[in-house]
Amino acid sequence: MTIRIEEVKRAKVLVRGIVQGVGFRPFIHRLAQVYGLKGWVLNSTEGVVIEVEGEEGRIKGFISDISYKAPPLARIERVESNFLPPVGYQSFLIQESKENGDGFVLISPDICICEDCLSELFTPGDRRFNYPFINCTNCGPRFTIIKDIPYDRHKTTMEVFKMCPSCEEEYHNPADRRFHAQPNACPVCGPEIWLVRDGEIIARKEDAIRLTQRFLSQGEIVAIKGIGGFHLACDATNDTAVKRLRERKRRSNKPFAVMSADISKVKEYCYIVEGEEQLLLSPQRPIVLLRRKPDSPISKEVAPNNNYLGVMLPYSPIHYLLFNQDFKPLALVMTSGNMSEEPICIDNDDALEKLSPLADAFLLHNRDIYIRCDDSVTRLFEGKEFIIRRSRGYAPLPIRLDFELEPILACGAHLKNTFCLTKGNYAFLSHHIGDLENEETLNSFEKGIEHFKRIFRVNPKAVACDLHPDYLSTRYALETGLKLIYVQHHHSHIASCMAENGIKEKVIGVAFDGTGYGLDGEVWGGEFLVCDFAHFERYAHLAYVPLPGGEVAIKKPYRMTLSYLYNFMSDYPYMNLIPHKEVEVIIKQIERRINSPLTSSVGRLFDAVSSLLGVCHFNTFEGEAAISLEMIADEGVEEDYPWRIVESSPIIIDPSPLFRAMIQDIKRDIEVSIISAKFHNSVAQMIKEVCSLIRKVTGLNRVVLSGGVFQNVFLLKRALEKLRKGGFEVFIHHLVPCNDGGISLGQALVANFKLKG
Ligand code: ZN
Ligand code: ZN
Ligand code: FE
Repeated sequence: MTIRIEEVKRAKVLVRGIVQGVGFRPFIHRLAQVYGLKGWVLNSTEGVVIEVEGEEGRIKGFISDISYKAPPLARIERVESNFLPPVGYQSFLIQESKENGDGFVLISPDICICEDCLSELFTPGDRRFNYPFINCTNCGPRFTIIKDIPYDRHKTTMEVFKMCPSCEEEYHNPADRRFHAQPNACPVCGPEIWLVRDGEIIARKEDAIRLTQRFLSQGEIVAIKGIGGFHLACDATNDTAVKRLRERKRRSNKPFAVMSADISKVKEYCYIVEGEEQLLLSPQRPIVLLRRKPDSPISKEVAPNNNYLGVMLPYSPIHYLLFNQDFKPLALVMTSGNMSEEPICIDNDDALEKLSPLADAFLLHNRDIYIRCDDSVTRLFEGKEFIIRRSRGYAPLPIRLDFELEPILACGAHLKNTFCLTKGNYAFLSHHIGDLENEETLNSFEKGIEHFKRIFRVNPKAVACDLHPDYLSTRYALETGLKLIYVQHHHSHIASCMAENGIKEKVIGVAFDGTGYGLDGEVWGGEFLVCDFAHFERYAHLAYVPLPGGEVAIKKPYRMTLSYLYNFMSDYPYMNLIPHKEVEVIIKQIERRINSPLTSSVGRLFDAVSSLLGVCHFNTFEGEAAISLEMIADEGVEEDYPWRIVESSPIIIDPSPLFRAMIQDIKRDIEVSIISAKFHNSVAQMIKEVCSLIRKVTGLNRVVLSGGVFQNVFLLKRALEKLRKGGFEVFIHHLVPCNDGGISLGQALVANFKLKG
């Protein structure tokens, strides 16, 4: 008889993915206990490293459980292991973090307060009862407070707070929910809140919350410091308050986001379908675009001329405290705390200075925000998420590619800027930086790039940028001294959508947007490309018209109306809307080509139609005229207007029959809601027809739709319908914005393939 004695083995395990700051090491500690294994675990710059010793079967069980039983916020991408000779460990230990070379880990985004913390927050007698900075390994700020990796307290903005003995004990107890929760804090040792009015502190702690509630219910505007920056808050049902906020924020019609206590409150003023509820409740807590109910008590001033409202649920303990007790507003406006186009304020002194003309009081705290991060904006489309602004809760999670990438920095575009760094299989797409139009945003862009390079240990060997010579992002790229790779704007849009859909092969790319610098120096924006990552060819585009006055024409859609009518119609009778003097000036600009580049932009076509129909004559924010036109379009209308396709190389799409037919309809007093729908249908039909022509020549059947115009869901829906009916396989964005927020990802991919040659 032989007795088989299991030999003791040792295994080294490396776990990659989001495994730091999510309660991963205590999880491993517990798992090792369950399997009776000895050894250690530590955080390194490459991921979580584990050594375990014990019977082989137990080790194997342990390794397979790592993926199956991981904590909720962890995202495991890879578990690598190899066996080694045993060394005789006596216990299982959690060791100090280790830094090594250029390894890197994924960093968790900021996550909304978890159920456990929420229940403690409202439990009288709990030592964190009503404490605005409660958090644990499963929730709280991450990305916005991390200065460097590995993720340890002394590398976060929490380093200035020395933990009290009770917090210290939790922090060191592997069985505790707050074991190594780096932002761990309590009222004894952690950050505090206070309320400032007229430069003086008027309340602290619970009193500050109570007074903030009172001010808000009295119709005042309060600047509230949150997770990724300041919000300006006021009662969303109070017309006067919202109007005042809008005036103080320089009068644009840009929609404000609102926040309500819970889903049931939101249902009082918006329709919610199932997937939307999940988006609202997701741990990233984005702003979700929801169809508003008519006659809701939410002020019309919150989102003028819009059928949708941007709604979010509370995500920080401060929000929950504000919505508690006697204060039960239906919704608060929670718009970013900045002066029109400047970046969102993150610093107390900065906010007190810059936001004092906007806010009546300031709810401040002393947990510093290291990196600003705006709220994300998303919506549901065809049952899936369709992101519009990818920032808090999402960044800095990378987009994963199924091939290796060179280390490259992509600088993005001008509006809605993001940048992107690539390394390994990852494209680290940054948080929302904003419009690169001023010193502050540029600083934020530069600081962001340095930060990403540091935390993800990327040392770029080339830099990608837009073709536009005047973009600050292009100028920045030039100054890096790195190998420069220019990427055409619309090629970037399509590449961005290809990347997130895992496509490498040639496609038909339809890139519709407002503005993008073309190879010929003109303003492109109605482009049909045939492209892969490395190359593109312009197969078709919307006919060129002058953009009279350049930037001015973008602000004043009626200039585009005039440009179209002047170019494509023998007369232009509908211009009596414009002051006669200005008509003369515009026509002079068009005829003499004074500051009037040519454009093929579909965004400008929407502007022209919007103004022609009397819907919107001024863009007070990007896309306003087009959005207003979409909002009035009648869903029941199926007809469209004719187009003319000029079969040249490239194919030219001539919209003159469209304008003629539209003017006929206007003369016949057809309702604008019908004309708008017919116009949308025509654009969708044109997409399908031109794609069919290109398919005939190239044999390609895959169509990729990108560019800001496709934020228009009326158009997107109809274009998809027609293309699918035509047998095309169509790809759209989900994870990355179709607007210029997605450009940097596309640039990074194109540059990677150009670099490979
Ligand atoms: Zn928690
Ligand atoms: Zn404490
Ligand atoms: Fe664009």
